[in-house]
Amino acid sequence: MRNVVDDIVAEVVAVCRENRAGALADYIPELAAVAPDTFSLCIATTDGYVYESGDPAIEFTIQSISKPFTYGLALSDRGLAAVAAKIDVEPSGEPFNEISLDPITERPRNPMINAGAITSASLIAGEDAAERFERLRTCFSDYAGRELVMNDAVYASEARTGHRNRAIGHMLRSFDIITDNPDDAVDLYFRQCSIDITCRDLALMAATLANNGTNPVTQQRVLAPDLVERVLSVMTTCGMYDAAGDWVAEVGLPAKSGVGGGVLAVLPGQIGIAVHSPRLDSHGNSVRGVQACRELSKKLELHFMHVT
Ligand code: GLU
Repeated sequence: MRNVVDDIVAEVVAVCRENRAGALADYIPELAAVAPDTFSLCIATTDGYVYESGDPAIEFTIQSISKPFTYGLALSDRGLAAVAAKIDVEPSGEPFNEISLDPITERPRNPMINAGAITSASLIAGEDAAERFERLRTCFSDYAGRELVMNDAVYASEARTGHRNRAIGHMLRSFDIITDNPDDAVDLYFRQCSIDITCRDLALMAATLANNGTNPVTQQRVLAPDLVERVLSVMTTCGMYDAAGDWVAEVGLPAKSGVGGGVLAVLPGQIGIAVHSPRLDSHGNSVRGVQACRELSKKLELHFMHVT
């Protein structure tokens, strides 16, 4: 039965669909070749209901939206203190792929920039590279509630062109943030970024975080509640590239975006939101993704500072 949320979702999609600003990511051919006008918006509630509009079954690569989930698995594998010794939780105000560490702490500033994300990947437990990736892929799948797979063509392109990320990996090795072969951590990072998802998957991943780490459909626990709190905190301050401050002011939800055009946002205890539209603004955030979340936040009064 249609309800008021269905209507609001359809309305937001209709308004934002008119917006054709922004440009596709073009650093690899696979991202430059996607249909630019694809657009979908899904909301999943903590009781497992999914509202969807647009083209919610189209697959795209998760890219940087993988970062909070890998950070969560690293926290589960190593514990909060061990991870905090390697990765800070301060917003950087720098581009996501900056080749830098905090000059005082000599750690990556947070897990949402590449230096922090590659460090998170280096902390995933497993006997060998294959087992570490399989654990990550299974973990992402548990959040989504269905089996996710890696896009081989995107992975091959990421691996072929990822010199800057390799430079970051070797910088991390030289400061002993990574203590093994840094190329293994960077390769795992390329693989995690290349996992294919749909907008619906992303909404359920967000809803699992909203539901304190338990997938609201399968009821599987994926992350402990205290670690969910940590992941959402970092998403709040660092999740939207160097537009995080604007996002918090305008939308007021923990979120993460990626260059595949996905945006994920979480209202703890209530809903997960996902948008997919591949045209990006100058920060690397989906233009319609940001607009749709801003509209939804206003219409549904989702801003976490909003008092009714
Ligand atoms: N594979 C991308 C990179 O690190 C992820 C980009 C993104 O979504 O921010 O360079």
